[in-house]
Amino acid sequence: MSEFEYDLFVIGAGSGGVRASRIAASHGAKVAVAEEFRIGGTCVIRGCVPKKLLVYGSHFAHELLHDAPFYGWTIEGAKFDWASLRDFVARDVDRLERAYTNTLDNNKVDHFLERAIIAGPNTVRLASGREISAKFILVAVGAWPVVPEFEGSEHCITSNEVFHLPTFPQRVVIQGAGYIALEFAGIFNALGADVTVVNRSDKILRGYDEDLTDRLLPIMQARGITFGFNRPISRVEKQADGSLLVHAGEGEPIAADVVLVATGRKPKTDALGLENAGIELGHNGAIPVDDFSKTSCDSIYAVGDVTDRVQLTPVAIREGHAFADTVFGGNPRSIAYDHIPSAVFSQPPIASVGLTEAQARKVHGHVKVFTSDFRPMKNMFSPIAERGYYKLVVDPATDKVLGVHMIGPDSPEILQAAAIAVKAGLTKADFDDTVALHPSMAEELVLMR
Ligand code: NDP
Repeated sequence: MSEFEYDLFVIGAGSGGVRASRIAASHGAKVAVAEEFRIGGTCVIRGCVPKKLLVYGSHFAHELLHDAPFYGWTIEGAKFDWASLRDFVARDVDRLERAYTNTLDNNKVDHFLERAIIAGPNTVRLASGREISAKFILVAVGAWPVVPEFEGSEHCITSNEVFHLPTFPQRVVIQGAGYIALEFAGIFNALGADVTVVNRSDKILRGYDEDLTDRLLPIMQARGITFGFNRPISRVEKQADGSLLVHAGEGEPIAADVVLVATGRKPKTDALGLENAGIELGHNGAIPVDDFSKTSCDSIYAVGDVTDRVQLTPVAIREGHAFADTVFGGNPRSIAYDHIPSAVFSQPPIASVGLTEAQARKVHGHVKVFTSDFRPMKNMFSPIAERGYYKLVVDPATDKVLGVHMIGPDSPEILQAAAIAVKAGLTKADFDDTVALHPSMAEELVLMR
């Protein structure tokens, strides 16, 4: 008989926590997980999945209004209903929550639908007051939107609330110019809202290759999105009619029906009881861990956004899987953080893997850059002259492709395959040796000279 009730207690049933639970159970561990909100976590419940469905929903607007007539279609009476889209998306989220719950059940993982905190190195305390012992504890509680301090911030929403708006807002102000801000700017703009993005600096999507962001910004502006740079929000006033007035830096206040704050996400470590196991928080409230996701306490591990390594779902999943293999599978392993592909589902989307040109110059000094600036075939008939742009960053000493950066329709779909080549260390000559798949946008990847 073990001295503990469980071999593993996981706090947080999101992407990392569910994967770790399932794999640990498959290695024979007795596992429980606690979740204070809904099984599935940010990605499934109020992140990547519902966001991508809204992006799909909003694409119809552009295709029906701008593209269809040039392909011979007349669409009469087309109209958009926010409540229908919102509710279809919500139903799919319900379906996925059930699927995740089934995964736990099928793997005999007990689940407690309540908050749990750390009460000691081998003890968690549930909100009900019950204490449960476990040989190992995994913290996978994710991150939470940061709302900067300003007067009237309580009138604003974050990505937590945006999927449930009771009515479609005609005027939307979005604070921030990162992933969430630009993805929702694209969604609301395509669906017919008047969108203004205000950011504290004059940058969008900090960290992405600047040729891509320089291409994206004018396209979003041409689609009707207003950008206010160097305009941090100082105050949001509620008007008598319920609408909002946003004071942001210099310039006239901006009227809005909804103000969406998208200024980053912070590890959700407040009041988690980490001090009861002697764990001190690191930068940004993150839990510091070693290469195997172990904290300073030998029996407690942490994976995913709560560790603030790379805030991406597939990374959390890999960390959770590696943790379970390490601790319960007799296969200690860490994960590689280089060559992680990423995408922004802006309209058009951006996708990227490896070093940007600026990063590569810092590391390698001299680099070779190959670019393709092209008009996607699908846009040929359209008066909207949106161009795609691909870039390969190459190490001249080895000919290895160090980075691939793309903006254009479907670029995230195309980039995943290119990421295999970059991860495998293939050279520019390997790209050149590959026969083009014609006609496609992806063929530009092997035609850059
Ligand atoms: P990001 O870090 O992408 O962007 C934050 C934005 O807010 C930046 O424009 C930044 O400005 C601004 N900002 C940061 N702090 C403040 C502040 N205190 N006051 C005012 N402005 C501020 O964060 P998001 O919230 O958009 O997304 C959070 C994370 O979620 C992302 O980092 C990403 O990892 C993940 N995510 C991934 C997605 C995907 O993979 N497609 C989609 C959505 C989220 P500046 O840059 O000028 O400093």
